[in-house]
Formats: sequence, structure tokens, C-alpha cells
Amino acid sequence: KFITFEGIDGAGKSTHLSFVADLLRQRKKTVVVTREPGGTSLGEALRTILLHEKMHLETEALLMFAARREHIAQVIAPALERDDWVISDRFTDATFAYQGGGRKLDLKKLEILEQWVHPHLQPDLTLLFDVPLDVARARLDATRTLDKFEQEKADFFAATRAEYLRRAAEFPERFRIIDSTQTIAAIQEQLCNILAGLDH
Ligand code: C5P
Repeated sequence: KFITFEGIDGAGKSTHLSFVADLLRQRKKTVVVTREPGGTSLGEALRTILLHEKMHLETEALLMFAARREHIAQVIAPALERDDWVISDRFTDATFAYQGGGRKLDLKKLEILEQWVHPHLQPDLTLLFDVPLDVARARLDATRTLDKFEQEKADFFAATRAEYLRRAAEFPERFRIIDSTQTIAAIQEQLCNILAGLDH
């Protein structure tokens, strides 16, 4: 199975990713944990460039999908072929949300790239960690220095979040929205229930 974790910066997805991986390992699953942009040595090199260099919006989208192509070829597809579980911290929904929603790149162009790079691959489950913007900002400011993307304005994050929610409504069969203002314990309980439904 292929599970993706999504949400705007500060929504708390990374905290819950290791919980889900541990839970699956307790159930004797072989779990591959990975992330985007990144996941391969080429992908990690592209990640460094993407997070720190200023570039044309379309260049950014193309590099995201270039990293993704390599990630699928080297990591995701072979793991799914072995029947391992793959957990990715972000995938294509993030490109729609950030480059499409946030930066206003034409969604049709992203759909073309998605069709090119992975016409037949979609996550079995996408966990969308959702929080109001003020909560996300407060968490980010408290925990770390902000990268190029995180310094962007509130309206950018509002548009990014809106595109995530729009996609969740468009693909309800694979999306589960987690209200990330809940306590960690409450979220963990919800995650256990969601995974129980997937594991058969
Ligand atoms: O998931 P993580 O927080 O590690 O992502 C690193 C940064 O990359 C984030 O600040 C996020 O805003 C940005 N990003 C992006 N477009 C994507 C994926 C991530 O702007 N498609």
C-alpha cells in the first residue's frame, strides 16, 4: 500500500508520520519511509536547489516532477512491487497545492505532468493534516528557522490550504482529512482507526 502525508507547513504531518510507520511495523509490515521533494540522491540534490534557489515557477514544477520521476523509479514502484508499504511525506498533491494553489500555476499544466510521470500510480490513502493558518504559523515560528517557502505570505498558505481541501473533496475515496488542532493522542487514535480500515 502507498500512503501519503500532506498538509501546509506547520500542520504537524511529520510528527504523525513516524507514529504510523511504527504502528505498521508492529503489525509486521515492511515499511519504506520516504519524502518529497527528495527520496533519492538526485531527488535530495534537487530538494536543496528547490528550497534555496529562486527560479521560474514552471522550472520549479518541472524539477518537482523530475525528482518525482526518479523517486517512483528507484523507490516507490520497486517497493510496491515487493508488496512493502510506502509512506511518503508529500507527493503530487503537494505540487497541486503549493505550485498550483499557492503560486497559481495553471492546474492543467500540472495535470499534464502528472499524466506523464505517473499515469497509473495514485496513493491508496492520503492523510491531509489540516489546521487554520494562525495555528500553523505559531507552530512554525516556535520550532525552527523558516526556509524560502515558509517565509511566504499568509495568503499564499491560505491558497495552498484551499487547494489541498479542494483536492480532498475531489478524491474522497483516498483522502482523509485530519483536524490537526486536536491533541496528539486524539489524532493517533483516529490514525489507528483509519489504518485498520486499510489493512486487509
Ligand atoms: O514537507 P516539508 O516541510 O519538508 O517541505 C519542505 C518545503 O518545501 C516546505 O516549506 C514546503 O512549503 C515546500 N514545498 C513546496 N512545494 C512542494 C513541496 C514542498 O513549496 N510541492
